[in-house]
Amino acid sequence: MHAPQAITLDHEAVANESKHWVRLTAACNSKCIFCLDAEAQDGRFMTFDDICVEVRRGREEKNASRLVVSGGEATIHSRFHDVVAYAKSQGYRWVQTVTNGQKLADRDFFLRAVAAGLDEITFSLHGHTPELHDHLTKTKNGFENLMRAMIRAVRDGRVIVNVDVCINRQNVEHLEAIVALCSRVGVREFDLLHVIPQGEAFEHRAELFYDVDAHSEALRRVFRYARVPGFHIWTNRFPVQHLEGLEELIQDPHKMLDEVGGRRVQFRRYLDEGTPIDCRDAQRCPHCFIEPFCSALDRHVARGHEGGFDEFAVGSNFALAAHAPSGVRWLGVTALPESPLGPLRVPATVVPPETLLPAGSRVVVERADQLPAALALGVEVEVRLDRELAAWLLENPDSLNERCVLHAPTRAKASESLALDPDWRNFFLALDRRVRVENLPACLAPGTRLERAPRRLDTALFHTDGRWQIDAFVDEYVGNHYYAKSLRCKACPVAASCRGQHLQSLRAHGFAQLQPLEGEWAIDASAQLAAWPTDDPDPRLAAGAPPQAPAFRIPVAANAPVPFIDTEAGRRS
Ligand code: SF4
Ligand code: SF4
Repeated sequence: MHAPQAITLDHEAVANESKHWVRLTAACNSKCIFCLDAEAQDGRFMTFDDICVEVRRGREEKNASRLVVSGGEATIHSRFHDVVAYAKSQGYRWVQTVTNGQKLADRDFFLRAVAAGLDEITFSLHGHTPELHDHLTKTKNGFENLMRAMIRAVRDGRVIVNVDVCINRQNVEHLEAIVALCSRVGVREFDLLHVIPQGEAFEHRAELFYDVDAHSEALRRVFRYARVPGFHIWTNRFPVQHLEGLEELIQDPHKMLDEVGGRRVQFRRYLDEGTPIDCRDAQRCPHCFIEPFCSALDRHVARGHEGGFDEFAVGSNFALAAHAPSGVRWLGVTALPESPLGPLRVPATVVPPETLLPAGSRVVVERADQLPAALALGVEVEVRLDRELAAWLLENPDSLNERCVLHAPTRAKASESLALDPDWRNFFLALDRRVRVENLPACLAPGTRLERAPRRLDTALFHTDGRWQIDAFVDEYVGNHYYAKSLRCKACPVAASCRGQHLQSLRAHGFAQLQPLEGEWAIDASAQLAAWPTDDPDPRLAAGAPPQAPAFRIPVAANAPVPFIDTEAGRRS
């Protein structure tokens, strides 16, 4: 394993540790011109009792071991130290705060925080000089106070100290100077946050938004610190296509849950009532890190209305077939009783399926020993490839016939992709057969017959009352729909009908695997893909975001209802 891949796995392990955020205030003693949260800041301070409920909820419902105490600005809450101590008493292993550092400049305040059990302080520093930092944060003496607090915390040695920086047009060329400044006082961990079009940041977009390409040199100079021993660099909301060659810096995609959680009320109203999301417009969304998620959600809703799904996954609950959206070809069902085979798809007209599979069914195999039995059924066979099965097929290529579709599964984690995926391109070159292939971009399946993977609607996405489960959709998105392309893809003849490769594969194996098509394969693949619909950009957004219809509902009795609680922190729904 290369060192960057090891960093990716380390980042994945940290990112997947269950973390709970609790907001102490909707107030702040700074006025950052890129504040994402300004609209929510109405000056409120949460009561200590409410905060304690929220702290306990993180342990009880999420089994979180890390608590992030945030605001607004958490340190201006009069019970800040009590909250830290209470969190420790509830069993949190690690308590962190994210702060502008103004209150922590006071020695006694800092010492009380450490005594209460604070483990980590993340200082928000946005400039290498007082002029730049104080201008961006609109805080008099902000830089001076923050640096005093940071130096004290580092010298004290009992807390982990790190820094987050909002990258914007004003500071992008000074990022290295910011890192150098912090490094001189002993800080080596940085979270670099890309500015996004929300809150005050959108109001100040002329001053803040920047062209990533135009500043790629400055950005890469800083990103490369990730490979300097002793330094830890994280990116946050940074457009992934600009991290080619530094894939270990791609933010863990499961963080999307936090991003979506912050806008949960809006997503809920969109899905339940069809209320347009305030920020859904062609000016903003192209600058937004969440854009692929919002477009995937729109596409799912649109497909449900327009008959765009191929498969309706009902598991073993055939009663749900009655709710199948129009246009569905297949019911996705779990394995038949006592069958050695995996899941299967049966024609949507067959309810329940007979033990003998009707024509038009498709069975799924994941192991070589399943293949003969599956082929004997006389139906289509989806061969879900991993490295072991791919190696077996290279030894036994005649096992495949016209009814086999080689399927490249997406993986929930980069570590799984690293452990399980074959080298796709070299596998198909070595196989050297015109096999049917789905779920891969053309550059990774040379010489094959490219097929579009079935579009699947899973009943696990719905509550008992038929409403969409937002968190379940985030998981579905991260696991199955989070794709990206290389900047090079612009030069590829099939770019318009290609969505790229799944993000976890890119994190594990790099963007370098994506190479624009050339020669005969370019002509062949272009002809094959000519009939495919384009998947990107989202057609509704491109059309200027017309009013949206509420999402369709599918009541799923087996799914536990999770009430939507419209609280300040935004909850599961
Ligand atoms: S992509 Fe989504 S969250 Fe981002 S600005 Fe657009 S609608 Fe808002
Ligand atoms: S557009 Fe990009 S990902 Fe798609 S086939 Fe071409 S090079 Fe590969």
